[in-house]
Parts: sequence; C-alpha cells; structure tokens
Amino acid sequence: MSTVQSLRGLVDLLPQQIPLWQQIEATAREHFGRAGIAEIRTPLLELTELFARGIGEATDVVGKEMYTFVDRGERSCTLRPEGTASVVRAAIQHGLLSQGPQRLWYGGPMFRYERPQAGRQRQFHQIGVELLGAADPLSDAEVIALAWDLLAALGVGGLALELNSLGSSEDRAAYRTQLVAWLEAHREQLDPDSQARIHTNPLRILDSKLAETQALLAGAPTLAAALAEPSRARFAAVQTALTALGIPFSLNPRLVRGLDYYSHTAFEITSSQLGAQATVCGGGRYDGLVEQLGGPSTAAIGWALGMERLVLLVEKAATAPLVRPAPDLYVVSRGEAAEAAALALAVGLRRLGLAVERDTSGSAFGKQFKRADRSGAAWAAVIGDDEVASGQVRLKALLAADQELLLPALDLAAMHQAISQARASINPLANIPDNIAASVSANIPAIAQRP
Ligand code: ATP
Ligand code: MG
Repeated sequence: MSTVQSLRGLVDLLPQQIPLWQQIEATAREHFGRAGIAEIRTPLLELTELFARGIGEATDVVGKEMYTFVDRGERSCTLRPEGTASVVRAAIQHGLLSQGPQRLWYGGPMFRYERPQAGRQRQFHQIGVELLGAADPLSDAEVIALAWDLLAALGVGGLALELNSLGSSEDRAAYRTQLVAWLEAHREQLDPDSQARIHTNPLRILDSKLAETQALLAGAPTLAAALAEPSRARFAAVQTALTALGIPFSLNPRLVRGLDYYSHTAFEITSSQLGAQATVCGGGRYDGLVEQLGGPSTAAIGWALGMERLVLLVEKAATAPLVRPAPDLYVVSRGEAAEAAALALAVGLRRLGLAVERDTSGSAFGKQFKRADRSGAAWAAVIGDDEVASGQVRLKALLAADQELLLPALDLAAMHQAISQARASINPLANIPDNIAASVSANIPAIAQRP
C-alpha cells in the first residue's frame, strides 16, 4: 500500500534534531527573561483581513505567499505568515496597551507558500520580539542588541548587521514620488517583476535579489538623501547608541524589508555561512501598525529570527552534534515476571525524580546491555529470573568498572539514594555526554571548567 507523505515544504523535526532546538529555545527564553520580555502565544490561524490590513496587499507575503482558505463558517482564514500582526491584534483586543508599554516575545511555526529550497520552507519557525510603546531611538538599539546578543550567546559566527532608515511616512511619500519617476525613466531596463511593482510597491524594488536590477539601481535616488532633518537626527542617535553598545553595523541604503508597515529603523542580520538565504534576522520600527489595526497610536519596534537558518548556524558553530541527555538508569529485564518488576521499578524511580529508560525489546541480555551502554546511563538495573526469585535488583555501574550492588526490589528509596549519590560524587557534568558538555561549555564560558 502506498504511504502518505507530508505536504511539500512542511518539514518534520525528528527526535535527534530536537535537543539542539530545545537548547536554542531555552537560551532564548532565558535571554528574554533577563531583559524583562514576556512571552505571548497567539493562534496559528487568523482572519485573512488581519494580514491584508497589517502587512499590506502589495507585499509578497500577502500577495503571493499566504496559506488562505475558507472555513466551514464561510470566513476567509489564513495560517499566520509572520508574528507581528497577530501580536498587535492580541495587544489591542485585550487592552494590553492601556497597561503601559509591552515588551513581548513569541515563537512558533509560520506558513508561507513559497518555493521550497535550501533555507526556505512552507512551514518554518520564527522567534520574535516586539516592543509596543517604545518611541525612543535607544529602544531601537536595545531591540537590535537583544538579537545580536542572543546570536552571540548561541556561539554563532560570521554575522553582519545592516542598517537603514526608512524615515517617516512623509519622507517615504516624498521619496516614493522621486523613485517612481526614476523607475519610469528606466522601465525598459528593469526585470518584469520590478516593472510590475513600479506603482504598487516601488520601494520593494530596491530590495530585488537580481544582480542586474541591483546594478541598475546604483544610479537611483536614495532614501537617505530624502530624509528630513528630524529623521536624520533620529537615525544618527540609533547609530550612536549601537556604537556605545559595541555592536558593529554597516549602512545599507537599499534595505527596505518586505512589509509595508515599517518606518525609520530597518535592519537585517546576515551570516556569511548561509549561502543564498543569508538573512537570519530581520526587523524594524512600525510606528503606524497599531493604529492601522484599530488601536491607539503606538510607536513600536521588533524583529523576527528564522529558526531553521539559526539552527544551521548553531550546528556549524557547535563542536559536536547535541544528543539527548543520558538517563540516570537503564533497566534491563527478561521474562514475564521480570518485565513486570522492571516496569514497576522504572515508574517508581521516575516518580522519585530519576530519568529511567526501560528496555522493552524482550531481546537477549547481551543485546539489552549493548543498548544500555549506548544510552550513556551511569547505571543499569538488571532483573532476570534469579532477581525475581530473590526479590532483588542488581545495579551495575556502566561507567565505572566492576561496581555492583544488590538491593531489595521494593526499596526504591535505597535505590534512588545509591544512584543519586553516585551521580553527586562524580562531577556535575559527568553524566552529560562529552559532546553536549563541550557545546554547553563553549556556549556558557562560566561552566567551562570541566575536569
Ligand atoms: P527573505 O528575503 O529571505 O524572503 P523575508 O523578508 O521574507 O526574508 P521576514 O519576513 O523578515 O523574511 O522573516 C524573518 C526571518 O524569517 C527571515 O530572515 C528568515 O530567517 C526567516 N524566513 C522567512 N521566510 C522563510 C521561509 N520561507 N523559510 C525559512 N525561513 C524563513
Ligand atoms: Mg520572503
């Protein structure tokens, strides 16, 4: 019979990939916690109108990439293609903005109907930060530092921060007129995609990924030159603050970001290690969005980081792949009565807080012991016919040679004590496999002194 496959571009994360994802998620959670940023979780599905109004019809995301369908109640629904519109909707809907500025982060799957390729999927994951009610240029630098330092904490190398200012909506309107006139004059030399955008989304043409278009645009008027004095002063303040925080950046006058709601600061963090899809994090200021979605006028700034691309970078930075942490105890058993006793032992010791893995294969002891060794557990518990008859459990040390204890099967407390004492007497990283310890050490210098 034929098997059912996943949809194209929707990707499974298999058990061996999970430790790395969890490590990144844990680092991010800790990092945000220290910055006083609270998590928010919004639904994966929203009314299509939210993204049409919040992101803009002329963008790629809304125009070409959304997973949209009509539900049983005849409503047009869309799987979220990004997080910002949902977070802003939730903040408005629940009156969060009347409680003062909101410092929020989110993480989870996003959906875009794009052509799947390296670094590009139809379901992918983002982690993002949104500061709502943050007008000061210093908050731009703070939000960028949050992304930069998170990447540094994860040991990611080869990063570059690119920065631009999109100015105020007045600056952009004035610039748009100049740019459209210039583009019209050069229409014949533009690629068809860009030609189609001249009147719908001309700024986005600046962001074209085609080399010929980029070469042509070298002669176009720049947004930087069109900025009015207050916008220039604001942008200079952001740059001063970044320099004070020791964060290097370069100015990229063509960086405009795909979404309509950006103003003033726009930025991207790219990595030289990612190939064609080099942007790992993108963000910027979106002072107009909250009002556009029906909320009070609220200055805001945020970013979103692509998890799949980040995972690739962290993998490159790590000395060895992460594996699942080893259990404290691996239970080996054979025979009907012995297996029942093994289950009771495993569940009982888990209730006392130990990590216990039980071999359920029913195979020969030799094979079970091989798996016990591979599990990385410090101890194996052995229950066979003899142990059942004597009401005992044999504890065998797997990491230290020739150490064996015979304990009463019902005395879970004694067993728990023996196992945890042995664990405590060796060093705290000892029952973490070497490669994890190495990567933990590499990322958290404070605990790097492993004997
Ligand atoms: P790109 O120019 O690569 O299409 P974008 O401007 O559409 O990026 P954003 O909307 O800014 O991307 O999303 C932020 C981050 O999310 C990107 O920098 C990237 O790391 C990640 N990302 C976006 N789209 C995808 C995708 N289809 N698959 C995997 N990651 C993605
Ligand atoms: Mg895109």
